[in-house]
This record gives sequence, C-alpha cells and structure tokens, in this order.
Amino acid sequence: MPDAAPAPRPSACPGLLRIVAARDGGICRIKLPGGELSAAQAEAIAEASARHAAGVIELTNRANLQVRGVRGGEAAALSAALVAAGLGPDGAAPDAAAGSDAMAKRAAPASNSLRAAAADDVRNVMISPAAGRDPFALFDTRPLCAELLALLQGEARFAALSPKFALLVDGGERLARLDHPHDVWLAASQVRDGVRFVFGLAGCPPAVALPQNPAAGCDDSTQARRVDDAGALAAVSSSQVPALVRALLHSFLDLAAADATRMRHLLAARSVDAVLQRAQTYVDFPLSRDASLASWHRATPADAARRLGAHAQRTTETWHVGGQPPLGRLDAATLHALAALARQQGNGTLHVTPWQSVLLTDIAAHAVPAVLTALNTLGLACDATQAITRLIACAGSPGCAKSLADTKADALRLAARLPENVEVHLSGCPRSCAAAHRAPYTLLAVSPGTYDLYRRDDGHSDFGQCVARQLTIDQAADLLDHLARSP
Ligand code: SF4
Repeated sequence: MPDAAPAPRPSACPGLLRIVAARDGGICRIKLPGGELSAAQAEAIAEASARHAAGVIELTNRANLQVRGVRGGEAAALSAALVAAGLGPDGAAPDAAAGSDAMAKRAAPASNSLRAAAADDVRNVMISPAAGRDPFALFDTRPLCAELLALLQGEARFAALSPKFALLVDGGERLARLDHPHDVWLAASQVRDGVRFVFGLAGCPPAVALPQNPAAGCDDSTQARRVDDAGALAAVSSSQVPALVRALLHSFLDLAAADATRMRHLLAARSVDAVLQRAQTYVDFPLSRDASLASWHRATPADAARRLGAHAQRTTETWHVGGQPPLGRLDAATLHALAALARQQGNGTLHVTPWQSVLLTDIAAHAVPAVLTALNTLGLACDATQAITRLIACAGSPGCAKSLADTKADALRLAARLPENVEVHLSGCPRSCAAAHRAPYTLLAVSPGTYDLYRRDDGHSDFGQCVARQLTIDQAADLLDHLARSP
C-alpha cells in the first residue's frame, strides 16, 4: 500500500527536532539541502548555539551541521529558532519544533512532531559542494537535488526509511566525494546525444584509479581510488531520475524486512534483479540491468584537494574558496564571521562539504586573496599541505561516553608530527562516527592516549589491516613516518 503512511521508524540519531543526549550536552543535527545555507541562516545557527548550547558547531561528513552542548530544558527553544530560520523540513511549523522538550510536547500533538521529525530525517541527498559551478561538471545537480528532497519529504510512506538511508547524485564534478557508500547512487554520464544518469545500489560510483603515492604508503589526497568495481546497473534520462528514485524507495520498503534499514541489508537477502523487477512496477519506462554498463566508471577523477584554497568556477572570473576548520569544529563567533565574509565577498551563501570544510562561492577574482587571508585569520586551513587538513577525529571522550580516548586532543598532538601526504582518522570506538569511508590510516582508541593503528587494504574489515597495537601518539607518529618512507 504505497500511499499508506506507516509509523516513522524510531531513531536514536540526532535531528533538528530530536535532540539526543551526549556527554557534553544535547546534539542537534541540522540537515542542509545540498550542503548549502544562507548567511542569515548561518547567523541564526551561531546565535541559537550560543544562546541555547555551548556555542560549538560541528561540520559533518554528510555536509550537514550539528550544534553540540545543548543545555537541559532548551532543546525546544533551539529547534524553534532553527525552524524559524527556515532550516526545518518542508512545512515544519514552530509547533512541530516544540516536540523536543517534555513540557512543550504536551502543548503540541505528538503526531505533528513525529511527522515533522520523520520529514527531517529523510533529507539525505548528497551533491558536490561545487554543483553548478565546477567547470568539469556534466550536469547541474542542484535542481534535481531539490526535487528529490521534496519527493522524500512529500510521500508519507518514506517516513519509514531510516534516517541513515541516503542518496548520492553525482554531476561529474572534480570536487566530489565518491568514497561514502550510499543506498542509491546516480552519476551523470556523457553519451552521444547528451547526459544520462547511470545508477547503482548500496555503493559508490566507480571512480578511475589514480596512481598511489608510494612515499605515503596510501592514496594521495585526491581520494579518487577505485571504490567500487561493480559498474552501473542501468541508465535513465535526467527527467526520469525522480521517478526512478521513487520506484527504488518504494521497492526497498516493499521488499525489506522490518530490521533491514539499509539497501545493503536488502541486497543480502534479495538480488539486484529482484529489486529492479519490483521497481519496474512503479515506472512506465523500461528498467532492467544494462550489461553494457557492467564496467562503467566515472570519466573524470575526483580531487578532494579542490575543497581547499581558490579554484576557478565555470563562470569566467568567479572562484570558489574553501577552508577547513580544525577537526571540523567552529565556534559561534567564527560562524558569524564566515557569514559576514560570504555576504561581503561572495553570494551570501556558505557550502558545507562532506570533508567537514566550508566553501564560499562566486568570489570575484580580485577578492580571492582577501578571502584566503580572512579564512586563515579565522583559523581555517586553506592548503592541503597543512597537516590538520589530513586529520579527522570523532567527538572523543569529552563528548561521548563510548570513547576510550580524547581523540580530538590527540589528533591536534599528532598534527604537529604528521608526515606529508598521510591521512589519519582517530576514532574513540569502532563505530567510526567521523568517517563514513575507510581512511588510509585509522587510529582506534584502546585506552586514554593509546591506539591500535590500522592501514586501509582491500579486505572487508572496517578499518583495514592492523599494523601495530597499543601505540602512544608519539609512537604512532614515528611509525607513520616509517611507513610513509617505506615503499
Ligand atoms: S566513534 Fe565511538 S567514541 Fe567516537 S563519537 Fe562515535 S560512538 Fe563516540
């Protein structure tokens, strides 16, 4: 019964309307359409985070923001302020935001707040932060992203999707994150008479392999290693994409067992062809596996380094300029300053990237040096040679009861000794909140200040091969240096 509205899945994930408790206070996650927010919205977040929380704002690896340290009793006021700034799901009313606090819950019908929370949860569509501007793009994915977000929020049945169920729409940009597995991915592909979208399930668009950096013992910072050899299943026109996605989502909900929350769970029980056959019943265009796409891969390599520094946009004389706050965290004053910079020198918007960095767009060529200086002054790293751009860390023990170490403080210590080109992820436990991908190196905490070191390989373990156990940060730095020098 596709039109029936099932109860939303219960979830422990933070959302705009569901503030989840952590060791350092509540966490409120703000989903940003296409990673974009206006300067006014950034100011509203900065203000609300200072007023109702600890004034700490995190950039997430899904190009969203989250406010940490929400104070007891202030969740509803925070949610209401964010909804008032237009950061809620479609049609979210202030009364829905009131569902966060027990007292306010009595005032607003529980069903309203549940529905609004479910609409918030499903807003998971990833596009390039340079969509529409990247000179290498085959297709401007922004309108498609907006259409898919409306689809996800508009059909009551999709409230049953997990808050982690996510779509990727790849326009072929150089600045693209391709190593996060998505439940459904679509990628623009040039054909003789235009662009079609190839797609796949539970994976990533296959990328061309770039040469490895032998000195670093891992991929270079372009992160365009081959992430998936499965090719693509089939191709559709851009106008057919919304109908295809709708069909795949309904098919997932038709076929998945109650405990199967992600596409990979469904594919463990049913074949891809069974999913496509089901999807065929929802669309009026042919939908079956196209054998000629079995070895499809993206023609353009992705280049993560383009998130940093200045790069020319598609439109002459305009640039995008990016910077990365240390370990993906901003304070309220810095977010205010970034909003002012976007107004003064850019187009009044900020783009959050899935590398936990910020991109300012439509900067006039003559203003680029001033913007770079301003970002550096605010403490954002704009150059891939800066070690801090090659480190990610989860909240760690100050923010998370599960963490066995203060990962962020340890990452800052490691930054001082990190060898060139080496990328490291520090995780307080195996849940790997900071990384949806397998990093070249992972330090997994085993006790305060002590970590096991893993190196990425092609196996199926979460972090790769364990190369050393029980290392202090200094010992880890020594070993990474040795590994970086050894072929
Ligand atoms: S990875 Fe583990 S320790 Fe780190 S924030 Fe997530 S749950 Fe907490």
